[in-house]
Amino acid sequence: MDDFVYNGNPARVIFGSGTISRLGDEANRLGVHRVLVLSTPEQAGHAEEIARHLGDRVAGIYSKATMHTPVEITSDAMQVVETVGADAVISIGGGSTTGLGKAIAFRTDLPQIVVPTTYAGSEATPILGETENGRKVTKSDARILPEVIVYDVDLTLTLPVSMSVTSGLNALAHAVEALYARETNPIISLLAEQGIAAFAQALPSIAKDPGDRQARTKGLYGAWLCGVCLGSVGMALHHKLCHTLGGMFNLPHAPMHTAVLPHAVAYNASAAPTAMATIAKALGANDAATGLYDLASSLGASMQLKSMGMPADGVEAAVEQAMSNAYWNPRPLEKAGLRHLLSNAYEGERPQRA
Ligand code: NAD
Repeated sequence: MDDFVYNGNPARVIFGSGTISRLGDEANRLGVHRVLVLSTPEQAGHAEEIARHLGDRVAGIYSKATMHTPVEITSDAMQVVETVGADAVISIGGGSTTGLGKAIAFRTDLPQIVVPTTYAGSEATPILGETENGRKVTKSDARILPEVIVYDVDLTLTLPVSMSVTSGLNALAHAVEALYARETNPIISLLAEQGIAAFAQALPSIAKDPGDRQARTKGLYGAWLCGVCLGSVGMALHHKLCHTLGGMFNLPHAPMHTAVLPHAVAYNASAAPTAMATIAKALGANDAATGLYDLASSLGASMQLKSMGMPADGVEAAVEQAMSNAYWNPRPLEKAGLRHLLSNAYEGERPQRA
């Protein structure tokens, strides 16, 4: 075994069915009395219902959370935090809502409870990506890490199949890149392998029957494992490319991750053979890159960046930007290889087997 460093992020995790009934106890445990409830506009009604479990500890509801955590929305929410005298936030929703809660916590150090309803995994990380003047800037800080996560499988039953699949692939990307991360370590590799296997088993069943509780439970458990991977070790080419593409072309987060992942994995295959073998085994496939492509496409995900709004001349522009922004990756960045990767993701081609 190679030497390693393991950094665990402290968090309290409640996992199960019906767990939202424990929100009041969790607020008491934190010693908070004026909780601001956060959600997207689409989930406002649902969040209000869930927040009833906090009783009179609800200080207000702010339901304007949106993708990519724009600082204008955060400033608006900060005024509400002050007006209502909030002493905690509860984020009910996906990565967009969790992002707003983190942005508030970064500015105030208020404790956060997160009730995730997608598989994005943001609840398990000390990372915040904020957008200002069209640029997404990522920071990591102990204040950003949520104190309590309440996973309630029941809340994921409404996540539409298409979003379940792409959100699941977004989660898988965290585990995949953790396996070949510079700081990889045996504990995170265990979680990563289990996270990949959980989704490989759960997603086909969820696609067949979105109400399949066993599959939903496995998927949400996988989301937690994959989120821990993202929060514990550095990511590489796939996440950096998605960050670049998201910023340049405002592509939808989870679908973009889904279309890029098999190609990023194909690019890295020759430089990370052990990770590739683990990914393929966890997927129950012969090859990591084609296994990921086949899993996503067989469940109806679009694999073409062009269908998500990327312009035709975007490949070259994204290659230039990716090359100008140096970061660690198991295989050094090469212009021709990146062009091949992005052209394939743009067209939705199946990657070549390694
Ligand atoms: P999202 O939070 O934007 O949700 C997408 C839509 O689905 C929203 O309209 C939401 O209201 C709705 N929705 C969520 N759960 C639902 C459910 N159970 N039933 C019905 N509708 C539901 O999407 P996301 O993919 O979870 O999050 C994407 C954002 O999260 C991006 O901004 C991304 O950068 C961020 N993210 C951050 C991290 C991190 O560690 N910082 C990790 C992953 C993602």
